[in-house]
Amino acid sequence: MGNKTIALVAHDSKKLDIVEWAKFNEDTLRGFTLYATQATGEEIKRHTSLDIHLLLSGPYGGDAQTGAMIAEGRIDFLIFLWDPLTPQPHDVDVKALLRLAVLHNIPMACNRVTADFMISSPLFRQR
Ligand code: PGA
Repeated sequence: MGNKTIALVAHDSKKLDIVEWAKFNEDTLRGFTLYATQATGEEIKRHTSLDIHLLLSGPYGGDAQTGAMIAEGRIDFLIFLWDPLTPQPHDVDVKALLRLAVLHNIPMACNRVTADFMISSPLFRQR
């Protein structure tokens, strides 16, 4: 059985948050297979030495792609720092991603404090 897989998605106003979170947790994250929507992944790569598989840009299908991977059972955790104050052109994809994560019972952190709780849980490292 391979590494567990984490998908990382952050809207523009949350990119700084996810980069800081990834930097702080870089050693832990190294033990996981990481996917991210394009701009989120590029930003994290710029500030860490993490190996990240880049999906499409969120507004161009990256959120939908992440949702599809969840539906296919290919994602174990989702860090989804979405912006509650800015209308998104891909709002329907955002909703679909939220729905699929709940439907498939994927642990999902939608803000940084929840991401902190998640990654520090002993359950995070269990098979
Ligand atoms: P991005 O997509 O990482 O390509 O900016 C995130 C999103 O808008 O969902």
